[in-house]
Amino acid sequence: MENCIFCKIIKGEIPANKVFEDEHTLAFNDINPQAPVHILVIQREHYAGVHEIPGDSRDIIPQLFSTVTKVVVQEGLVEAGYRLVINFGKSSGQEVPHIHIHILAGRSMQWPPG
Ligand code: 5GP
Ligand code: ZN
Repeated sequence: MENCIFCKIIKGEIPANKVFEDEHTLAFNDINPQAPVHILVIQREHYAGVHEIPGDSRDIIPQLFSTVTKVVVQEGLVEAGYRLVINFGKSSGQEVPHIHIHILAGRSMQWPPG
């Protein structure tokens, strides 16, 4: 998708502080962290929300979570805990319409979230 910031990060047109990448996914530090650890996990293919992924491409979802698993282990987040967030659409406050999983850690979290 031409004007998508995360597609530009994937293509290397915008720099990002990468923590993990493989052939399907990329994980990088959020530019405006909301916790001491704030990592975004994205897929190389562009979809705005999980409900937009076609039936024959749904392996995208396990690929994303496989990378989340690798990152939380690699970054030592398991013992203290972490939060995963996926926003979609206006009411969620989604800013970038390219599916991403937020990994938040390093502080106590509130529930319910704001
Ligand atoms: P959303 O609100 O769409 O769920 O989250 C988008 C996230 O992307 C925000 O936390 C925002 O700080 C982050 N973000 C937006 N632009 C950039 C960028 O150019 N680089 C990085 N690393 N993060 C970005
Ligand atoms: Zn995109």
